[in-house]
This record gives sequence, C-alpha cells and structure tokens, in this order.
Amino acid sequence: LLAGRRALVTGSTSGIGLAIARALRAEGAEIVLNGLGDADEIAGLCEEMDARHADANLLDPAAIEAMMGEIGPVDILVNNAGMQHVSPVEDFPTAKWDAIIALNLSAVFHTTRLAVPAMKGKGWGRIINTASAHSKTASPFKSAYNASKHAVDGFTKTIALELATSGVTANCISPGYVWTPLIEGQIPDTMAARGLTREEVINDVLLAKQPTKRFVQVEEIGALAVFLCREEAGNVTGANWSIDGGWTAE
Ligand code: NAD
Repeated sequence: LLAGRRALVTGSTSGIGLAIARALRAEGAEIVLNGLGDADEIAGLCEEMDARHADANLLDPAAIEAMMGEIGPVDILVNNAGMQHVSPVEDFPTAKWDAIIALNLSAVFHTTRLAVPAMKGKGWGRIINTASAHSKTASPFKSAYNASKHAVDGFTKTIALELATSGVTANCISPGYVWTPLIEGQIPDTMAARGLTREEVINDVLLAKQPTKRFVQVEEIGALAVFLCREEAGNVTGANWSIDGGWTAE
C-alpha cells in the first residue's frame, strides 16, 4: 500500500509514534524515526523496521531544519512528538510552558513548512498531526498542553485549506487516554494536584472520561494513520479524528 513512500514520524521511539511507525512500515513505507531515548533501544528499532533515526531535539528549530535537510523529501509527515505537564496555572513553571509550546506546536509548524514544498512538487503528501481529545475539550491543570493541542487543530485546518488542490492532505488524530509513558508520567502530579491515590487517578480521572472504560490501544491509532495515507482518503483533509472511546461525544 505504501511502498515507495518515505515517512518521518516524530516522537517514534516510544508509545503512539512507535506504533504509527510500525503500522506504516507494515504497509511498506520507508521509515525515518525520530525521538529521544536509549541508543541501544533505538538501534534495535532501526533494525526492526529497516529504518533510519534522526536524532533532532525538536525543541530547537535549528535542529529541525538540519534534520529535514539531512533526511530529504518525505511523502508522509507524522507530527507526533509531545509532552505534558500537570500543574495549576498559577504555579505552572514558565520554562515548561515554553517547552510544551515549542514541542507540541512550533515543531509541527517547522517540520510542516520544510516538508510541504517537496510534497507540493510531487502532487502527493500526507500530514498527520497527533493532537488529542484535549484539542477539542479541556481538563484542569493542563493549560499549556490544552492550548498547544487546540492550536495544532487550528494549524492543521489552515494548512489543509492551503494545500487543498495540491494532492496533500492534513489531518489530526485525537486520541483519548492511551496507556503510554506520557500518561504514566503524569499520574504522580495528578495525584498531587487533585489529592488522589494512583487508582483514583486511573479510574476516576482518566477512564472516567472514556465511556468505553478502556484505554485506547496504540495499534488502533496506527491503523487510523494507515487509513489516512490511503488513496481513498485523498478527500479527507482538515479533519480532526477522535479516537477516544466516546469522550468528546459527551
Ligand atoms: P511518549 O512519552 O510515549 O512518547 C513521546 C515521544 O516524543 C518519544 O518518542 C519521545 O522521545 C519524543 N520526544 C519527547 N521530547 C522530544 C524532543 N524534545 N524532541 C524529539 N522527540 C521528543 O508519549 P505518547 O503518549 O506516545 O504521546 C505521543 C503523542 O500523542 C503526543 O503528542 C501526545 O500529546 C499525544 N497524545 C497522547 C495521549 C495519551 O494518552 N498517551 C493522548 C492524546 C494525545
């Protein structure tokens, strides 16, 4: 299905991005991994997927520019790297705010602006941005994250319109709660911010949002990304696809 297509998946050394990379690879795409992590583990992933790893830290626009130049044109761009911080707004560390906006939002702008010319030249491209249920609705104590994800939705719609006649689509995938290291990492802060136990955070805060009462599986997100890359999805653009167990239907 995707043989001959080159895909860059940011934040693909872990969690959702890794599952998207594996799903695109299973359809024959050439994969460029990106993300932080243990060098041996990353080498293992490269071997598994016959992939390259671009080690740019996406907090740094100059590093993004160097990475995009080094890997060359991509047909599929999955902007997935993201981070979270949980804190009341009045205590929110300003450096965390800046970092979350830089990674979750500005990096999406930089990779996109650098990938689009080649996609337009080819008359084919797929831009998939991992947003979040928090691009459509909010929860307290996640001000930077929710602001960044709402902005990614607006950015995606804008470029979808700009690229509408060029054969390039741009869409968001918006998961609800998916059990990944990102979620694991926010549990202690959520326990502190809300005065709850770990089990209460999982059942009364996280899964309480999802009518299906189960975490979204990373493979389910990989399958949706593959669909968006199909020829049949050529008229699907500017959409924000929920995969959230019904959360945002409520
Ligand atoms: P994760 O923590 O498992 O993975 C994050 C990835 O981003 C890793 O590969 C990490 O190395 C990479 N990364 C982090 N900082 C980076 C940087 N400065 N430069 C380059 N790479 C960097 O998280 P995840 O849960 O798989 O999240 C992936 C995306 O999905 C994020 O955008 C997140 O906001 C979004 N999301 C996650 C959930 C969830 O429940 N887990 C829900 C909705 C949306």
